[in-house]
Amino acid sequence: MTDQPDSIREIRINPIVPSESVLVSTARGMRPRKDEAPAPRDTRKHVDRCPFCTGNEHMTPPTVAASPDEDHWEVRVVENLYPVLGDDSQSTNLVFGLQQAIDGYGRHEVIIDHPQHGIAIQDMSEAHLVRLIGMYRDRVRALYAADDRIQYVLVFKNFGPAAGASIPHTHSQVIAMPVVPENVYNEVVHSRQYFEKNRQCIFCSLIDEALTFEATIYDRESGSVRRKINVGQYVIERGKHFVAIKPFASRYEWEIHILPLQHSSDFADISEAEREDLAHILKRSMARLDAVIGGAQYNFFLHSIPHNNAFADCHDSYHWHLEICPRTSIPTGFELGSGLFVSTISPEEAAERLRAVEPD
Ligand SMILES: [Zn+2]
Ligand SMILES: [Zn+2]
Ligand SMILES: [Zn+2]
Repeated sequence: MTDQPDSIREIRINPIVPSESVLVSTARGMRPRKDEAPAPRDTRKHVDRCPFCTGNEHMTPPTVAASPDEDHWEVRVVENLYPVLGDDSQSTNLVFGLQQAIDGYGRHEVIIDHPQHGIAIQDMSEAHLVRLIGMYRDRVRALYAADDRIQYVLVFKNFGPAAGASIPHTHSQVIAMPVVPENVYNEVVHSRQYFEKNRQCIFCSLIDEALTFEATIYDRESGSVRRKINVGQYVIERGKHFVAIKPFASRYEWEIHILPLQHSSDFADISEAEREDLAHILKRSMARLDAVIGGAQYNFFLHSIPHNNAFADCHDSYHWHLEICPRTSIPTGFELGSGLFVSTISPEEAAERLRAVEPD
């Protein structure tokens, strides 16, 4: 009897958004792999011609915010030079048959995470990460407050060329947008449905399950153990206020989600104590990822309740979180055509390997 079958082939449904699923198929050769050599990382401390390095502040658009202050910044925010959304001055309301467009109005800012050019999240001090998370919160609050047409403020980070980072100096981005993005919309709506049926937040239920639940699946004919599921096996880190889990049905093989243990719908409400614990859990989770996949290139993003009256009744049902999506493979035509992502490592094994690391 083994806890894990040698190979798994099953389609797992995302419990939050059931229209999303992942094909877990651990049989080898299922998909072409990207070259396994770790991506080269620029670890220089300072680069003379980098617009985000200290001393080159004149090369960026003016500072929007800085912490602790503009002259001695540790974290600095500037307007994006190439915004995907901007002022609504050149409004072109395209309505053409079934093709409808709304103004690409919004704000796009760059957060320079750290003065050191190539420093990775796991190498930043926890005190610095507390400051960075504080800046995320401040920008989210400020951008919602600045314009009531803003429906969502997305905070995200691209790290490494495979994740779409065009400037090697470590940075995050904030986009205030005139629509609620589909991924957030789906989560908010589906979790509201779950709440209406079960009077419980589905994220809280999943956390409870992840921390406690165990199940054994028996073979119906022979009665032997077919599979043992210890849901606690999805937990990667647990702090005072946050938990990092490897979701049971995640699209990216090494995907990690970090959620507050206490129910909370809005990242903008994060407290000082929570920021400290999030910094701790984030640093350790990134160190684990880096140790296991080496030179991780990733995207991370915050999902939080939209400040939009249509979702005013979702504070009990929605639970904010941070999703970390390492880019270890390139989606194929099968994935883009079917929407079914393929994972060649089981989430259970991924979690086990991540847990085995000893972060300092
Ligand atoms: Zn730089
Ligand atoms: Zn919850
Ligand atoms: Zn999410």
